[in-house]
Amino acid sequence: MREEKGYQCPACGKATTHVIQTSSLSSCIIRIRRCNLCGYSHETVEVQMDISSSIRKAADILQQAKVAEA
Ligand SMILES: [Zn+2]
Repeated sequence: MREEKGYQCPACGKATTHVIQTSSLSSCIIRIRRCNLCGYSHETVEVQMDISSSIRKAADILQQAKVAEA
């Protein structure tokens, strides 16, 4: 399991949180984090997005529109 260090604690503002649990769903990863300093626990959610393919699709649509205009 990959541990991301340096994530800022929302309670005390120090970059001292560590991941205590990771659960992954189909397209997102939920991490439960706890602050090393104040003990505050919170969750972060990472959503996986295929941005590059969306941009390619948009570029294709623009290209087709230009061809249709000409
Ligand atoms: Zn803290």
